Amino acid sequence: MHPTLADDLFRLPQLLASTRDFAARELDGLAERPVAHAESAPQGAPLPAEGAGAEGALARFAERWAPGFSGSAGPRYLGFVTGGATPASVTGDWLTAVFDQNASGAAGSWAAALERETVAWLRELFGLGEAHSGAFVTGATVSNTVGLAIAREWLGERLGVDVSRDGAAALGPVDVLSGTPHSSVSKAMSVLGIGRGRLRTVPSLPGGREAVDVAALDAALAELGGRPAIVVANAGTVNTVDFDDLRAISALKERYDFWLHVDAAFGGFAALSPAYAHLVDGLDGADSVCVDLHKWLNVPYDAAVQFTRRRDLQVAVFHNASPYLGLPAGEPDFLHLTPENSRRLRALPAWFSLVAYGREGHREIVERNIALARRLGAAVDALPGLRLLAPVRLNVVCFTLADDPTPERVDALARAVADSGEAFLTPTVYGGVPGLRAAFSNWRTTDADTRRVVDVLAATAL
Ligand SMILES: *Cc1c(COP(=O)(O)O)cnc(C)c1O
Repeated sequence: MHPTLADDLFRLPQLLASTRDFAARELDGLAERPVAHAESAPQGAPLPAEGAGAEGALARFAERWAPGFSGSAGPRYLGFVTGGATPASVTGDWLTAVFDQNASGAAGSWAAALERETVAWLRELFGLGEAHSGAFVTGATVSNTVGLAIAREWLGERLGVDVSRDGAAALGPVDVLSGTPHSSVSKAMSVLGIGRGRLRTVPSLPGGREAVDVAALDAALAELGGRPAIVVANAGTVNTVDFDDLRAISALKERYDFWLHVDAAFGGFAALSPAYAHLVDGLDGADSVCVDLHKWLNVPYDAAVQFTRRRDLQVAVFHNASPYLGLPAGEPDFLHLTPENSRRLRALPAWFSLVAYGREGHREIVERNIALARRLGAAVDALPGLRLLAPVRLNVVCFTLADDPTPERVDALARAVADSGEAFLTPTVYGGVPGLRAAFSNWRTTDADTRRVVDVLAATAL
């Protein structure tokens, strides 16, 4: 063994203690560190020939890189839909590395069974029935990709084509219909050989809504003349957190042949709150469902879950058995269900957080975030320099400058807010108007944080 490696093995307990102390200091200062960094990162250093040992690497990281990391895990990073990491999920994440299990299959470890337990809890949390099975993937983009891959296989079943054997081209042109899909849906279509150009955008409800007009979807399906299709319903759009009427869309299945995929990346968490659960009413009727976990469950990157009613088709797409052995029988190992073969036990951080805080603890996070978004929305509405672009439906505030909201002026506002170090918001365009989004999904965010965001907006949006 290399002497530095042997030394690290000998001093492992001290190394873990140093790491713990460093982590505790960083997490302790998280709420006050600058939320975003404008300075450019250091130039790449040459590959070290001689190692510095793990303590040396820790010192170098602390000195050279950590100061430039954002406070995105902290309470006033409201860009994208970000979320942080609960204390229990950090514990689970550390132990994921400590145990370093390969959760591809069941052989010799209970790790895959722990993932199954976690998936069953999540299924219950989001109000899905037992007909849905699930698996962990790295994020909502991959969850959408897996859902659409199963949809593609289903189209093959309907058309008498074996897609996993003969390829997507054997299907001919595929129709994917959606109201306001996330950009990851067209990325998935590109990956899957369906083609980005096959996305047919269906009009949304009038009045600046992002929810699909179900009558327009009905008409678009009718135009297909009986050809089976894929419908992507959106449960929580990124600009205004609008929700498609999932029950009404499911009801269209009585008349049209389509696979229903629901992108509930963060909107799925409405199910945790009795006051908002109606927004995802009908989610259980979906053929496949995407929910992100590194957003509103507040577990570290990278984690999402993918649910489907047709695990047989999922196995047809993703099975990794030798062809002459046929498809796996019984409960399939995870390597037959997801794009990965070897995979980390990314269920463990979620398992820890669900055990630590339970349904009630996670409901409190969701409801507090919603209440704070409403408070910020009311405050923005009251500021003379700003106006809301849409009502605050759940956890995102979408707003712009009251006068002359050009892209340049809105970008300048986003930059001024980020440069203050107080908050981070991301620009968007809503209804053709440039604006900003403030998305609440972090377990740490308090009323006092929200007031600080209002203060920085009041000071910069003059
Ligand atoms: C964030 C998001 C995605 C993509 O999620 P990643 O985890 O970044 O891959 C997809 N759909 C919706 C609605 C999202 O909010």
